Amino acid sequence: MTLAPGVRLIRAPNPSPMTERGTNTWLLGQGEVTIFDPGPLLAPHLEAILAALGPGERVAQIIVSHAHKDHSPLARVLAQKTGAPVLAFGDARAGRSLRMAALAGLPSLGGGEGVDEEFAPDRVVGDGASILIAGESGTILHTPGHMGNHICLLWGERLFSGDMVMGWAPSLVSPPDGDLTDFMASLARLERLGAIRLFPGHGDPVVDGQERIRALRAHRLAREAQVRAALRPEWQSLSALLPQVYRDVEPALFPAAARNLLAHLIDLAARGLAQLELGHDELHAASSAPETEPNEPSQKAGGTEPRL
Ligand SMILES: [Zn+2]
Repeated sequence: MTLAPGVRLIRAPNPSPMTERGTNTWLLGQGEVTIFDPGPLLAPHLEAILAALGPGERVAQIIVSHAHKDHSPLARVLAQKTGAPVLAFGDARAGRSLRMAALAGLPSLGGGEGVDEEFAPDRVVGDGASILIAGESGTILHTPGHMGNHICLLWGERLFSGDMVMGWAPSLVSPPDGDLTDFMASLARLERLGAIRLFPGHGDPVVDGQERIRALRAHRLAREAQVRAALRPEWQSLSALLPQVYRDVEPALFPAAARNLLAHLIDLAARGLAQLELGHDELHAASSAPETEPNEPSQKAGGTEPRL
């Protein structure tokens, strides 16, 4: 499917409540093709990518947005088949914040779901790295938050945004790989890019990318207000807080919502706005001080997207 000049989409056959219709693999340029996010290790997807290449076309490089199993594992096989190098920020631990490095390994923290522990790029690309794609320069943006090693690719006014920003649902931020403090900073940075089109890792492209990023920031801040409103001076468990904060989310999505709730609590604690107790089997949280300004939770209804 061609969606913009020089941009082709091959969608992997891995639909799920967390991946929408499947992972988007983007083919950029013609002749000398750059692959952005090779996708999961599925033979039909590998065949579909290779079949999409026209006669005389060659894969110049494979860029991986982050080391999650629905984005990165096919990179190695594709590199072997095409001889193209794999470019990424680093392995699954690269870019992890000091805060999350300190928390990682605590039994009550959990997390680590879907991480591609085997992932290793051929070439490490850092923030601001310039990449030539079909004769036009693209820029790597390090956007930690969904995962420490997450990068986006800015190519002209097109942002290949991986799982950082998507049109269909807010991103999962699951500690210790996800860090909400970093995520909010990355969102703010992407919003400052101005007018961009989004080509995300799941779901359809978004024409007004800046508006979508603004809406996602607003959603996260509204969720934060709900979390703060639910906190009491007494300790409450994460599972007790969950239904208070996620009243608008189907219980089927509660496991994912619990990860985002944890991410919010760690962020609030880091800012001195909540207290966290991670020592027990289950995490407990309390307000840092009696509430002086009650927060009005935003209960905006709309659409069917899972609003974690
Ligand atoms: Zn991901």
